[in-house]
Amino acid sequence: MTISEKVAYIQGLYDGLGLDEKKSGEARILSEVLDVLREVGQQLEGMDAAMDQFDEELDTLEDTVSELEDAVFDDEDEEDEESCGFGGEDGEDFFEIPCPTCGEDLLVDDEALAAGVVDCPVCGGKFALSFEDGEDGADSDE
Ligand SMILES: [Zn+2]
Repeated sequence: MTISEKVAYIQGLYDGLGLDEKKSGEARILSEVLDVLREVGQQLEGMDAAMDQFDEELDTLEDTVSELEDAVFDDEDEEDEESCGFGGEDGEDFFEIPCPTCGEDLLVDDEALAAGVVDCPVCGGKFALSFEDGEDGADSDE
């Protein structure tokens, strides 16, 4: 039951008494009080309607904000992916060289680089990593 409905109910009770406002001071006061209550009820209903409208506008704003967030964060994700790809998996500290004996691609990792030797798991051969070739060539020019 809303306040307006309660006021209407009391107004009905008041009307049922058949009081004469011209003769009864109490009847006149009750009538005035009922008028005030009716006005309060109407104003409250107006505020409820305004609150509902605010709710709707707030929902619309939230939707807009979350759409903006999606757009902004999507862009950042793409940038992150780009920067990750730049120094990510492709930037690992190993490379492959073919085995000089059997031609199998061998993984040269930090360990093999440190030892300067690669063991081939396919043919069982061992061979030294010869990074000095280039330097030797440069030296021989002199
Ligand atoms: Zn091999």
